[in-house]
Amino acid sequence: MNLHEYQAKALLRDAGVAVPEGRVVRSVDDVAHALAALGDAPWVMKVQVHAGGRGKAGGVRVVQSPDEARDFAARWLGQRLVSVQTGAAGLPVNALYIEPASRIARELYLSLIIDRATSKVTFIDSDAGGMDIEEVAATTPERIHALSVHPAAGLMPYHARKLGFALGLSGEAAKQFAVMLKGLYTVFMQSDASMLEINPLALTEDGALLALDCKFILDSNAAYRQPAIVELRDEAQEDPREREAVKHQLNYVTLDGDIACMVNGAGLAMATMDLIQLEGGQPANFLDVGGGATAARVAEAFKLILSDTKVRAILINIFGGIVRCDLIAEGILQAVREVDLKLPLVVRLEGTNAAQGRALLAESGLNLTAENDLTRAAQAAVRAAKSTGREAN
Ligand code: GDP
Ligand code: MN
Repeated sequence: MNLHEYQAKALLRDAGVAVPEGRVVRSVDDVAHALAALGDAPWVMKVQVHAGGRGKAGGVRVVQSPDEARDFAARWLGQRLVSVQTGAAGLPVNALYIEPASRIARELYLSLIIDRATSKVTFIDSDAGGMDIEEVAATTPERIHALSVHPAAGLMPYHARKLGFALGLSGEAAKQFAVMLKGLYTVFMQSDASMLEINPLALTEDGALLALDCKFILDSNAAYRQPAIVELRDEAQEDPREREAVKHQLNYVTLDGDIACMVNGAGLAMATMDLIQLEGGQPANFLDVGGGATAARVAEAFKLILSDTKVRAILINIFGGIVRCDLIAEGILQAVREVDLKLPLVVRLEGTNAAQGRALLAESGLNLTAENDLTRAAQAAVRAAKSTGREAN
């Protein structure tokens, strides 16, 4: 689960991390009031969406006057921002964050993640802040520094010395940096974050170190013990299909392709997506209906898949281990009739009662392709997707 920048900055502020003062506005009429509270121009205005890359997409602007600020608010509130991180549909802009603009001397990068290789909380910093850190990692990896924290010892003074040195900080700035690390580490641990990223961490012209942007991701496994953070959830920023899936205990992730897949078991679902790609197709989603898939859940999964208008073909791959293939077949038939399916459907059933399941599909008289072999099933789905026009469904 993600937080908005303004919410994450509030967590930082409470932990003693230096962030600019700011105001959230949700309507053009709120702007004047917010500016009055923040003091003199210039101000920086930022759209609040659960994605980065806002600056390049026009969603961050330094404004010099209340008129300019109102124009920015009118331009964005109620619109969608498309950035390199949002996907083509973009994300809705329902709030803006306004801060007094900082005069930036240097843009640095600082983040905290859990490093899977060492299983430790790890700081990453770079003197190449403000820009795309993946790009920096790819082209100039020597400008990125990582240092992990021992879970028993916790944060030590040497962390601040080493990481600060890598950023070229000394004197007063290095002292501020040490305070900042402590605050960030506290927020990360106490809030069960899986990632906390400050980009840019700005050194201002008057020598202050300020967190100008903040990305916070909550480790969802810890959501049960973080009610205050869960409270900050903004469902408008989440994929509606992924949200719907959670309600039906389906494990669903939207992807960019046009072949929908429905599979039982996450590993088999990954393998199915790989096979689709190998055969020249692109999966429209990851969908694991779970080991205990029932007819009702299969029907829900169908509706979910069909609500995605870019889908051109459907591939169902069920291995009957705990579940019986005849029950799955019944669920498929029920769902196909219920939703009046027009898209090509390829079904591969294997395992317990597979023969009965296949017989049910064959006898149904519905237009679907039953395949026993997974490779052939993937090939059939790829062919079908390529020949399906946009008019179907
Ligand atoms: P992102 O593009 O979504 O990561 O949004 P950021 O909040 O990081 O802002 C993008 C860029 O806007 C930053 O890298 C800065 O260059 C610039 N920016 C952000 N805040 C300020 C500010 O207070 N003053 C100035 N001059 N530039 C800012
Ligand atoms: Mn940023």
